[in-house]
Amino acid sequence: MNICTRLKCDTCSTLIDCRIGMSNRDIQPFQFACPSCGEVIMFTLGTQESNLSGAIEIKNFKGLFDGQNPFVDLHLDFPASFETYKMGGTTYMKAVEELGAEAIGNLSYRLSMLNLLYSKQRDLQRLITQYKRGNIKSFKKICNDFEIPEITLKSEKKEDVLAALYSVTSIMSSPITIHAQNEELSKKIPLILQDLYEKYNKNTTNFVNKIIENQFLENLHHDCLDLYPNIVSLDLPIRPTLYYDYINSSEHSKVPARVSTSDFGTCSNFYKDLAEVFSRQLVLLAGLNNLHNRGDHDLFDDKVRLNKKGKIIKEFSSLNSYANVDLGKKLGAIDNPFYQIDKQAIDNNLRNSIAHYKYDYDEASQQIAYYPKKEGMQRNIEHSLYFIQFMRKTLLLFREVHNLNHVIKSLLYFKIFILRKE
Ligand SMILES: [Zn+2]
Repeated sequence: MNICTRLKCDTCSTLIDCRIGMSNRDIQPFQFACPSCGEVIMFTLGTQESNLSGAIEIKNFKGLFDGQNPFVDLHLDFPASFETYKMGGTTYMKAVEELGAEAIGNLSYRLSMLNLLYSKQRDLQRLITQYKRGNIKSFKKICNDFEIPEITLKSEKKEDVLAALYSVTSIMSSPITIHAQNEELSKKIPLILQDLYEKYNKNTTNFVNKIIENQFLENLHHDCLDLYPNIVSLDLPIRPTLYYDYINSSEHSKVPARVSTSDFGTCSNFYKDLAEVFSRQLVLLAGLNNLHNRGDHDLFDDKVRLNKKGKIIKEFSSLNSYANVDLGKKLGAIDNPFYQIDKQAIDNNLRNSIAHYKYDYDEASQQIAYYPKKEGMQRNIEHSLYFIQFMRKTLLLFREVHNLNHVIKSLLYFKIFILRKE
């Protein structure tokens, strides 16, 4: 179903023709910029009041759009276009045409899962807080509050608490992650750990003991957990990016498409947080990879470790030094990895620009310009991408963090069952 309405911008009085495609989400908050003056216009469907702000609705508008006014096409679930109005060419119909019935069916299923789960964000937050505090009684109570049969606490043993915790984070993120990827890594990592323990018993034990004793593993686990309620709270701007799971990734960079809700300012810091946690997860991955390839968690490949004169580069002299290396440099130091990272997700320039507040966001075009280079007082070298591409990167980076969370999980089980530590 579509609603066609005409709005008048509060700021510049421009008339805006607006077509809204309905999602199945109960509450639908929309946000877009006036195509003429760029001021933000917002309204919400599915609540008692529409909360229209930034514009007024032309009450007596009954007719069809005639192409005289700027046009915006909105839909929470799909990328919306910036193109001119075409009758019948709705966002949904365009998506059906491009993806085909099967893919649309699959995507709709994931979106309806998201509709069910997003309201449980608060429970997820509470559960993680109680887990981190070690309050098992409250943890158990919140598990029951979810009212999802898979989420139960069998006993108060550490392994059962972990199992319940990982069921919750997996289920809550299931509509936005890729099941096959999760399954692959959650099966592969325990086998790799077992293999390492057999081949390099002492070094593997030392490595795991070390990251337990210096609390690196626990701190990383806690920081990683904190990202789950955040991604669920960003369900609105994430929704249209799921569309790109079904088309060739090179295609979507060419077509400017719009997110019908939220803006870059609301979401930018989350990418930075994801990159921070991911960067520390890489330390785990590098340690295990060094063990896997050379039997010593500190020993990086000679091509990484040594400079042209054959001297050891300090940054790659141990895993501890590697932990301080910039994200951009970290990736290249993991040789012949047992897990392939999706490079599309990582944009260190973007991360740095957000961290240093060196970006401009144009609400009307939803274009982000960012300036990662150190240029003194100037801002000349510009990189740019659309907000929807940014949200896609956020989604992909979350998936990487979620995948590597399986490594953390396996190490925690290793601690309980192999090292017999509480
Ligand atoms: Zn305006």
